[in-house]
Amino acid sequence: MLTAEIICVGTELLMGQVLNTNEHYIASRLTEAGVALNHSSVVGDNPERLKELLNLAKGRADVIIMTGGLGPTDDDLTKETVSAAFGKKLVFHPECMEKMVSYLKEAGRNLTKNNEKQAYLPEGCIVIENNNGTAPGCIIEDGLKAAIMLPGPPREMVPMFNETVLPYLKKKSGMVLKSRVLRLFGIGESRAALMCDSLIKNQTNPTIAPYAKEGEVTFRVTASGESEDEAQRMVDEACEKMYEILGEYIYAEGDDNSMARVVVDTLKKKGLTVATAESCTGGLIGKMITEVSGASEVYGFGFITYANEAKMQLLGVKKETLDTFGAVSEETAREMAEGARRASGSDIAVSVTGIAGPGGGTEEKPVGLVYIGVNDKLGTEVFRFVQHGDRERVRNKSALCALDIILKRIR
Ligand code: AMP
Ligand code: MG
Repeated sequence: MLTAEIICVGTELLMGQVLNTNEHYIASRLTEAGVALNHSSVVGDNPERLKELLNLAKGRADVIIMTGGLGPTDDDLTKETVSAAFGKKLVFHPECMEKMVSYLKEAGRNLTKNNEKQAYLPEGCIVIENNNGTAPGCIIEDGLKAAIMLPGPPREMVPMFNETVLPYLKKKSGMVLKSRVLRLFGIGESRAALMCDSLIKNQTNPTIAPYAKEGEVTFRVTASGESEDEAQRMVDEACEKMYEILGEYIYAEGDDNSMARVVVDTLKKKGLTVATAESCTGGLIGKMITEVSGASEVYGFGFITYANEAKMQLLGVKKETLDTFGAVSEETAREMAEGARRASGSDIAVSVTGIAGPGGGTEEKPVGLVYIGVNDKLGTEVFRFVQHGDRERVRNKSALCALDIILKRIR
């Protein structure tokens, strides 16, 4: 298998001032290109130490992937150092210069003297175009080995990696890779991983990689084969087993299918609209829904009713209900959802009321207690949760639970 080593260059990374998201991103995408990552490191903007590391990497990896240090300033020395290590001269690339000038012009900026340095690339390299910044990337090939250089800013690096580097690596590894991403909700990463432990443990091909992010868990199942069909068959077989074990938690597949996106898409498909009535989540559900482009087709009304007066004025929650049962209660959640649907004329409404903490909990109503109501033409249902974690987690999980409840109701 083709082996790789990642080197991220930048003193700001070394000192902990900037989180090394590039490493995380690249590392997470290499398996699907049929590449094994064996080493990964961070080095400051220091040519001597970078040189040491490069010599080590050249000796042990087929491909060295670097990010950072391609900027216009004097401390950006990656190209110079790598070129020297591979015995290449830096030569002027007029087409890179032109591209830079037009990029800057579009951004309403002028070329500065030191931008010119960015148009110098190692002789004979493959140029990686940068459509989101000035610094082009490049690939030096040396026999069967390759050194890939990408700029540091993630918004420049990520598209360049996806558009050029990933296809380059796939071709170089010679393997056909197929993957599927299974998205789960309602189960923690460790429990999900434990449930399919035997599948994960025995994996070499396909690989099953769990990944947890803010309440959602995803599994990327990747297989490499000598043909598309072979790889696809292996992925499908592994996924079938995953569905047997975890099927009830899998709500969608695919990289970009966040819970909110699936909710918006499903509402669209069914021709339904949704409204939200949020107390402890303070608009978070609305934020998640409106992050999906095209959400306006299905979402028009979001009520943030943090105070009792707001719940009464905007949603028609009864004073007796609040006095008798409290704002965090099944009854209030019910009236919030019903009121939100009535006031908005939407097909379905969801409500959240709870205690996000850290203060405000009692023995009877602890921090993390959340009621989520849902109302549509068939009636109202209220769900009770006790969420664990700090304020941010309680709010985030509650918002995701609300989306999950909408989804289950409309599917
Ligand atoms: P550079 O290509 O070295 O000029 O990088 C410019 C900026 O990109 C730095 O100031 C960082 O904010 C950001 N950056 C560089 N490397 C990384 C990395 N590995 N992960 C995330 N951000 C980075
Ligand atoms: Mg830098």
